[in-house]
Amino acid sequence: MSNQVYLFDTTLRDGEQSPGVNLNAAEKVQIAKQLAILGIDVLEAGFPITSPGDFAAVQAVAREVKGATVAALARASFKDIDTAWEAIKEAEQPRIHTFIATSDIHLKYKLNKDRRQVLEIAVAAVKHAGKYTNDIEFSAEDASRSDLAYLCQVLEAVITAGAKVVNIPDTVGYTTPEEYHNLVTEIIKRVPNIDQAIISVHCHDDLGLAVANSLAAVSAGARQVEGTVNGIGERAGNAALEEVIMALQTRRDIYHLTTNTNTKEIYRTSRLIAGLTGMPVQANKAIIGKNAFAHESGIHQDGMLKERTTYEIMNPAMVGVAKSNLVLGKHSGRHAFKERLIELGYQLAEDELNKAFGRFKELTGKKKEISDYDLEAIVAEEARETTKKYNLDYLHISSGTTVVPTATVGITIEGEKTAMAACGDGPIDAIYKAIDKITNLHLVLEEYVINAVTGGKDALGEVTVKLRQAANGKIYIGRGVSTDILEASAKAYINATNKVAVSD
Ligand SMILES: [Zn+2]
Repeated sequence: MSNQVYLFDTTLRDGEQSPGVNLNAAEKVQIAKQLAILGIDVLEAGFPITSPGDFAAVQAVAREVKGATVAALARASFKDIDTAWEAIKEAEQPRIHTFIATSDIHLKYKLNKDRRQVLEIAVAAVKHAGKYTNDIEFSAEDASRSDLAYLCQVLEAVITAGAKVVNIPDTVGYTTPEEYHNLVTEIIKRVPNIDQAIISVHCHDDLGLAVANSLAAVSAGARQVEGTVNGIGERAGNAALEEVIMALQTRRDIYHLTTNTNTKEIYRTSRLIAGLTGMPVQANKAIIGKNAFAHESGIHQDGMLKERTTYEIMNPAMVGVAKSNLVLGKHSGRHAFKERLIELGYQLAEDELNKAFGRFKELTGKKKEISDYDLEAIVAEEARETTKKYNLDYLHISSGTTVVPTATVGITIEGEKTAMAACGDGPIDAIYKAIDKITNLHLVLEEYVINAVTGGKDALGEVTVKLRQAANGKIYIGRGVSTDILEASAKAYINATNKVAVSD
């Protein structure tokens, strides 16, 4: 058996099913490209039959992303499979991923079919997919709660029909490491043609065991792990791929397995996904949380100073965590700025670099020491602004304990300057009402989150907003950064508003 573990990322499909997440096609392409840079083997770009928007996004990913297999999900129906193929056929390496449930509970209540019928549908679906491609993955939905003998019978039949990857998902996050290890072991023992396919696992985190279960399966012989960076996904989410990757890497002495990933891209990938999905990463999250490499205790700090490995099992540089060294300031020139960005892994085009440098200079006027985190925040903001219909010109706010908060906001709409004033319950409310007056879009603020990018009084404030379009209930996420939190708030709102404008 190969010692290579393939990573299958489903951020754009399962991850996008996280409540409150809505990515447009451009954002999906941006994430997919970064995942390919990270070295993910298979990108599940979406579920094309579900909507024309999803179809278009999958097609865009298939056309634009190189260096990874692009998969599309399809139920075990010819129409789903035809549509999935239509969406991915232009990919370098397209994969059709078809599925049907195999547990009795799903058969009885969801599909209303017996085991014989489901087996026939699964085989027919795989054969149909085989008319288009050899790269076919079959998932036995709710595999972990399926009858073992029946599951093995289905797997054998779909492998004979042409499936190259057989996925045995723990759809509902119910299994435990020992049980799942045993399941994979039994499948290897009982399915006679299992050597002709790769066993894949797809775990959910309902009991907080998604990563542990994935690793248990891998040590039993599974060679593809499905999940998402940051662990986003349905309900409690999917297995966090960054944890799987770093566990395999850090404990190679136990697993003796490798992946194709460039671990230095983990942190940047995580930040990009958190930013575009509006799902922040908790501070104590393994590998990528703000505190994952922070040492607070005096004894630990002392040990670290003497020898890093006394208290650190991974080097933060290995996952691409920006050193919090203070690197740049007021006197840093364009060259130093560019060099630092290259060190951080950003290759900006000339006009993007000019814009980012402008932001940097502006920031040095307000903040003495610019850290890597700050640089990363402003570059990410520039990268987010793909199409801008609305641009913030200025803000004027009057607020305090004895006055009615009032804001005047100046915005340029496609080159034309305009301004509006409004009163609100607070200064941010006033700003948002003034912006609404200008755009005339009926948007509801669903969520507002503010974070400091670094410590200190002059820290950059990073605001994330979720706006809901009243007419169709669609969610749009916006982010903005500034040392002035009111300005960051306005930018975040305008960033989301620009996305509404693009989608209309
Ligand atoms: Zn799932």
